Amino acid sequence: MGWLDLCVPDEVVRSVEEIDLDALAARGFAGMVIDVDNTLLAHGTFEVEPARLEWMRRAIERFSVCLLSNSIFGKRVRWLRELLEVPGISVWNWNRKPFSGGFRRALALTGTAPERTVMIGDQLLSDILGGNRAGLHTILVMPIHPTEFVVTRHVNRRLERIIRERLAARGISMPEAGDEAEEDAPDA
Ligand SMILES: [Mg+2]
Repeated sequence: MGWLDLCVPDEVVRSVEEIDLDALAARGFAGMVIDVDNTLLAHGTFEVEPARLEWMRRAIERFSVCLLSNSIFGKRVRWLRELLEVPGISVWNWNRKPFSGGFRRALALTGTAPERTVMIGDQLLSDILGGNRAGLHTILVMPIHPTEFVVTRHVNRRLERIIRERLAARGISMPEAGDEAEEDAPDA
């Protein structure tokens, strides 16, 4: 399987609140590794919408959850870890997603086998590629605010188009990314 196929998520939803926890539990999933930036929190912020917070609390009750973020300082990971009383790690260098080190550490914290664990994130090249390589069930969410670096954004856009076509071939449609009005908003 080529690396491009490893960038194709198993499921696509608009936001985490659309993920059916009962359905995942019924399919035998027990663990959940969740990205932070633009998946749970808007990039650079410390705010969670009430509906999203509610979903997270239900997810934590039901699944063994670990947050996994590519960040050097991990301030938002720490903040969420305390708010939710859930394990979370920030990884960088050669442990960054999509590399395997962070996933190994996250799975040690959830205590679940990869095939019984779900990876949820907004980035094809880190969350989905890494999750698939590590053998997790991958769910792509649309970024809360698409305010990535311009270069990343263009590369991702092109990749996204290819992934969109592969998903369409499997009969899965991908929603358009979040609020286009936020597109050119400066990073916080
Ligand atoms: Mg992210």
